[in-house]
Amino acid sequence: MADVTLKHVFKVYDGGVRAVSDFDLEIKDKEFVVFVGPSGCGKSTTLRMIAGLEEITAGQLYIDGELMNEVEPKNRDIAMVFQSYALYPHMTVYENMAFGLKLRHVPKDEIDQRVKAAAEILEISELLSRKPKALSGGQRQRVALGRTIVRDPKVFLLDEPLSNLDAKLRVAMRSEITKLHDKLQTTFIYVTHDQTEAMTMGNRIVVMKDGFVQQVDTPITLFEDPSNLFVATFLGSPQMNIVDAELFMDGKTLKAKLNDVDGMVVTFPEVKAKQLANKKYIGQKVLLGIRPEHVIPNQGNLNAFIEVVEHLGDESILYTKMENRKEQFIIKIPFNSKIHSNEAVNVEFNMEHVYLFDYETHKAIMGIPAEDEIPAMVKDGVIHVGEQAVVLDPDFVSHLLDEAFNTDINLAIKPDYISLEEVANSLKITAKLEFVEQKTDYQAVYFSLKGVEGYFAMKMRNDEKVNLGKEVDLYLPYQRIKLYNLDHNKINSREELFANHGIAMVKNAGGKTKVTVGGSTLVYDDLGYEDGEYDIDFYQDRLMPIYSNKMIKKAGLVNPEMENPKNRIRVFAYDEDVLGDKLLVYVAVKGFINYSSFVVDNNFSVYKMPKFDMYVPADAFKLTRR
Ligand code: ADP
Repeated sequence: MADVTLKHVFKVYDGGVRAVSDFDLEIKDKEFVVFVGPSGCGKSTTLRMIAGLEEITAGQLYIDGELMNEVEPKNRDIAMVFQSYALYPHMTVYENMAFGLKLRHVPKDEIDQRVKAAAEILEISELLSRKPKALSGGQRQRVALGRTIVRDPKVFLLDEPLSNLDAKLRVAMRSEITKLHDKLQTTFIYVTHDQTEAMTMGNRIVVMKDGFVQQVDTPITLFEDPSNLFVATFLGSPQMNIVDAELFMDGKTLKAKLNDVDGMVVTFPEVKAKQLANKKYIGQKVLLGIRPEHVIPNQGNLNAFIEVVEHLGDESILYTKMENRKEQFIIKIPFNSKIHSNEAVNVEFNMEHVYLFDYETHKAIMGIPAEDEIPAMVKDGVIHVGEQAVVLDPDFVSHLLDEAFNTDINLAIKPDYISLEEVANSLKITAKLEFVEQKTDYQAVYFSLKGVEGYFAMKMRNDEKVNLGKEVDLYLPYQRIKLYNLDHNKINSREELFANHGIAMVKNAGGKTKVTVGGSTLVYDDLGYEDGEYDIDFYQDRLMPIYSNKMIKKAGLVNPEMENPKNRIRVFAYDEDVLGDKLLVYVAVKGFINYSSFVVDNNFSVYKMPKFDMYVPADAFKLTRR
């Protein structure tokens, strides 16, 4: 019994491989959570960090509210089952299961009772006296599970436990493990790259890619409302078709021209059109997604040529070619033996089930989005959202990057974090409840904001009462708010920001200006300042980290100025914050009173190299006479 919380967890391996970034998740007691994603996306690394087999580079891990980062694996009360379940070949099943307990000096009677109870749960009581070689693959896997059950751990970690089994056994063991979870009533965290396994086993699924969590939700919601293109195409088999399209209005009707399907035009039903998050997409290129099962054959005017048909008993899958489209277009229909390959077929999209994604960011833009995003501007500590102006909490303002002020930005928040009830430390905005859409696991509720085009969407429980047309207050916890610049980079930081300020001595000699700050002396061609003491302020985004001259050459930056140590300051980094394709590094600079922070490219990590130089071009700072 335990809940497991990961807060901004990072893993950077030696050599700089960034395996897990900003992993943030609360797993509730008794939950069955599945981590799924393609190979190399960081699932095992995350699991191994929970187990304590891998050091956590940054962030916190809590089990039952207790910080675990420095706790030895054996003291975490966790059990882990691996893909390769090495059983001791010379021991019987009973001995294999009892072994760990014996090492812990558990009394014999208790061992006996626990082994027998576990064997009962796993239905392997009659195998207890056998040796592993006399067991089938599935039976061995059960013994491996048994070894962990006897320890009665708070949390079960399972790392692709079924991937060594054949397909049939895998299916059988899936439901065994689900049953086991029901019986044990313990927290399960299960890793798999197999989407079917994930969809059939978890209460909640965490979809990962490139070390980042993409979406966390119930299997149904992930399938119905993928928050981005990756999740949409990763889950579902065969995978969702993606079509290049362009949105336009025909009178009051939203339509899409399918650019890579012979320029055909499709029409959105009104209820669907309403869910377009932002009107800015009209007239723009977007990606339109349609699942193979939502394509209707033998009607409509999209022409497809069937290249291959797979008749699978209860369904037929058509792999088709469409004019002007490189990829196959896949259609799934109930079994139909009359359909053959090398035939043409007319099809139509069931437009109730169409998805739209931003062409560049790949975020879902119709229905509940990954993040609600609305245009905003911050000026003098006030945020302007449409016609509303709300004074920001000063603490929130102290987390804003320099570029966040007096310019067009977007305010974003995950719909899950918006509350209709007052919550502490939150931004309150007023919205009007416009319409509701019923989903399987929840109701999608859409709000409008005065002076803002498009909608602000959130999820409500199915039993919550919704008053259409009513003005309500929405509470957005500051901690959960993200601000983005128009390049989709985050511009609010995790940690408080201080001015990049210090005191510098300026001395001119021989046509050069020497600027001494902290322990470093920077040398430039005459900058035109008089000798003396100055306040120095570094701009946040004009310095460049340099690890070595080799690195500069490798990056093709052959710039004698950068190679010259006289143009660099030494910094000691203590943390970083991924902003998107930029990184915010929090550093200490000798001679500065406070910490400084710099925006740099996201191609390295300070975690493995906390000490480095930063190249300071002459325009990277401002000097003011004291
Ligand atoms: P998954 O479990 O999703 O397949 P992993 O967590 O095993 O992914 O790996 C995530 C990334 O970290 C991959 O790029 C992998 O190559 C890298 N990686 C894993 N283990 C190590 C290690 N011990 N040293 C360096 N890089 C590693």
